[in-house]
Amino acid sequence: MAATHAHSPATHWEPGSRALKDAAREALAAQGVQWTGLRETVFDALAEGDRPVSAYDVADRVSALTGRRIAANSVYRILDLFVANNVAKRVESRNAYVANRHPTCAHDCIFLVCEACGRIDHLDDDRLADGMRSRAGAAGFDPSRAVLELIGRCTACRTTS
Ligand SMILES: [Zn+2]
Ligand SMILES: [Zn+2]
Repeated sequence: MAATHAHSPATHWEPGSRALKDAAREALAAQGVQWTGLRETVFDALAEGDRPVSAYDVADRVSALTGRRIAANSVYRILDLFVANNVAKRVESRNAYVANRHPTCAHDCIFLVCEACGRIDHLDDDRLADGMRSRAGAAGFDPSRAVLELIGRCTACRTTS
C-alpha cells in the first residue's frame, strides 16, 4: 500500500466518469475482490461529485438509486473494503469518503479541503509523502498510513469572497 511511484496524468480519472468506474472495477478484480451490484451502486453514489460524503449520505444515495433501504453498516463494510483496496480514500477531517481518482496507483494523497463550500481537491507529491515516512522511520516509527489534509479555501471560494 505504501509503494509509491511516478506515473502519467492518464492514470487519473474524473469523478463520476465511466473510465474511473472501469478502473475501480479492474483494481478490485486485480486483488481478487468481486464487483457486485451493491458495490457498484455504492461506488456510483460515492463518485457522484467532488465532495467527500459520509457513510450515511452514501446510504441515502444508494436508497434513492435502488429504491430500497440499505443499512449504514453494509455501507461501512463496503467503504472499508474500497479503502483497503485503494478504490476510495477517507478524508479524516470530514469523517467522510471520496472515490480515489487513481485506483490503479498507490499514493499518499494530499487533500485540499475547502471549509467554505466543502469541495475537496487533491495533490500527489510522493517526494513530500515519502519524506515524511522516512523521517518517521528514522525516528523509530513504523507508519502504516499517512493523513495529509490542508483546510482552507478553494479557488472558486477565494474569488467570490
Ligand atoms: Zn492521490
Ligand atoms: Zn470552496
